[in-house]
Amino acid sequence: MADAASQTYDVVIIGGGPGGYNAAIRAGQLGLKAALVEKRATLGGTCLNVGCMPSKALLHASELYEAANVEFAGIGIEVKPKLNLTQMHKAKDDSVEALTKGIEFLMKKNKVDVVKGFGRIAGAGKVEVEAEGGAKTTLATKNIIIATGSEPTPLPGVAFEDGKVIDSTGALFLPKVPKHLIVIGAGVIGLELGSVWRRLGAQVTVVEFLDKVGAGMDGEVATAFQRGLTKQGMTFRMGTKVTGAQTSKDGVELTLEPAKGGAAETLKGDVVLVAIGRRPYTQGLGLETVGVTPDARGFIANDHFKTSAPGVWVIGDVTHGPMLAHKAEEDAVAVIELIAGKPGHVDYDLVPSVIYTGPEVAWVGKTEEALKAAGVNYKKGKFPFAANSRAKINHETDGFVKVLADAATDKVLGVHIYGPQAGELIGEACMTMAFGGSSEDIARTCHPHPTRSEAFRQAAMGVEGWTMQA
Ligand SMILES: Cc1cc2nc3c(=O)[nH]c(=O)nc-3n(C[C@H](O)[C@H](O)[C@H](O)COP(=O)(O)OP(=O)(O)OC[C@H]3O[C@@H](n4cnc5c(N)ncnc54)[C@H](O)[C@@H]3O)c2cc1C
Repeated sequence: MADAASQTYDVVIIGGGPGGYNAAIRAGQLGLKAALVEKRATLGGTCLNVGCMPSKALLHASELYEAANVEFAGIGIEVKPKLNLTQMHKAKDDSVEALTKGIEFLMKKNKVDVVKGFGRIAGAGKVEVEAEGGAKTTLATKNIIIATGSEPTPLPGVAFEDGKVIDSTGALFLPKVPKHLIVIGAGVIGLELGSVWRRLGAQVTVVEFLDKVGAGMDGEVATAFQRGLTKQGMTFRMGTKVTGAQTSKDGVELTLEPAKGGAAETLKGDVVLVAIGRRPYTQGLGLETVGVTPDARGFIANDHFKTSAPGVWVIGDVTHGPMLAHKAEEDAVAVIELIAGKPGHVDYDLVPSVIYTGPEVAWVGKTEEALKAAGVNYKKGKFPFAANSRAKINHETDGFVKVLADAATDKVLGVHIYGPQAGELIGEACMTMAFGGSSEDIARTCHPHPTRSEAFRQAAMGVEGWTMQA
């Protein structure tokens, strides 16, 4: 790499997560001279290091463990699995290492300068990077992209304490299976990591302030999903708030109250996972040097990725929109295309959500509740996996697919799936909706048999009432 301090970059990106590294790749592809600044030793951000990837590694391994424990015998495979948690963590860590190294390779391939250290905006067109030993370099640039991501939101009255009151990162590295894990928050992260430790043998209690799991999820799906998790052994304390935590050598005692008010009670566990959401991370970023002020919740506002300061752009978790890796990636491509004078664009209505539990939950577009609230006249087709031949053969019959379409135009407005491999199936719905497709388009598209994707087609057929397999 040429001396980073001796040149003017087209773009300096602060943060090497899915937002930052994808922006760097696209910049390289479009011939922009880019530098990527990252304070962690490895690239990949939250997603690769302590988020999407390690959590999915544990979800996959724990799913196989549970299948071997509970399901194999029923299909004629007799085994008695023994958990080797150290090896399970090692396999996860090895995968993460390979993935983060892959990002380093992509930076080289796209001629991006990676500058390791803490990045701070030092006025218009300047980013100061402080390396681990304290050495400082100032990078000159035409554009700065803030991609600094997010961090776990703490819960007032429940202080983090190593190994006892933990965040999602702590839950990825627990050295032994807790006897009783209490998860505060029935959102994506809490339910995924709660599932991991339940499958590995923990008793899991989920405490949630709201009356519904999976914030933002379609109501009908949320009800079925919670029922499914309960059947698997998870306990839910819905409509309940946590007001305090007391740790001792035996574990943690939480104080709970009904969300609507009422008598307090206590709940004891040996580990508490606080998973109430994430908040934008802008600590020490030097925003004041360019006159950018985050909003009341800490997010940096944007208009087509532009902040209020000329030449300073923002993408990913640190700005508005769903806090998801693929959303950060879409932002990344669009912001670089705009900087390069091209028409970059993201349709936030079409950012899918997935919960990688077993079964999975996935959705894209509007929920029934949102359509009703907006007064939209819609039609609905629904198909159960219990009537899908592939799901039946595989003994994965829990769940359904629901397709919502405009009553007048038949344009697909939302697709909601609770069932096996929902996260894979939802891509087809995203594509249909990106093309402005109708339920009839899906219904008249030949799908392979026997696959779970036929359930999606059958649900679409159901919009006009001609489902054939149920
Ligand atoms: C347990 C867990 C599971 C998840 N699972 C999924 C999933 O399955 N699918 C999904 O889509 N999303 C998932 N997410 C969310 C996903 O990780 C984030 O949405 C995504 O990482 C956001 O990307 P980003 O680039 O905006 O920020 P980040 O990935 O947070 O990256 C920001 C980077 O900026 C660096 N940084 C911050 N400030 C500075 C600075 N001043 N100088 C230098 N570097 C700095 C940070 O070290 C970090 O590496 C999960 C998150 C968690 C915690």
